[in-house]
Amino acid sequence: MIVACPYCHSLNRLPADKQALDGRCGKCKQALFCGAPLELTSANFAAHANKAELPLVVDFWASWCGPCKSFAPVFSQAAAELEPHFRFGKINTEQQQQLAAQFAIRSIPTLMVFKQGKIVAQQAGALPKQAFYQWLSQHK
Ligand SMILES: [Zn+2]
Repeated sequence: MIVACPYCHSLNRLPADKQALDGRCGKCKQALFCGAPLELTSANFAAHANKAELPLVVDFWASWCGPCKSFAPVFSQAAAELEPHFRFGKINTEQQQQLAAQFAIRSIPTLMVFKQGKIVAQQAGALPKQAFYQWLSQHK
């Protein structure tokens, strides 16, 4: 399984099991899983969405969006509980307008699951924790 480092974004190969959680980046030596969503930008997005083999779950959000704020703890909790099956990343649509435009984000929050560059699932609007986990389990 190829994963991108959350810190330096270089690619690492790992066993696809629980041991992956202890993996460290061959380049910067930091932990490959940090139990928290990454801040995705147009500079690091491709490494995590296209090159890594781990499904990437993205939360497109904005600071003025109330539902985004209430969903944020659910998303963080998912990152803490569901790694190494998924990578979780957040895209601030105000700062990353190029990515928001590229994926035609019209309502926020919008949730997407990417597998090696392809969108395999898309959801407009936040979900309660249980429904979110159920939705994710279909796209492992
Ligand atoms: Zn690294």
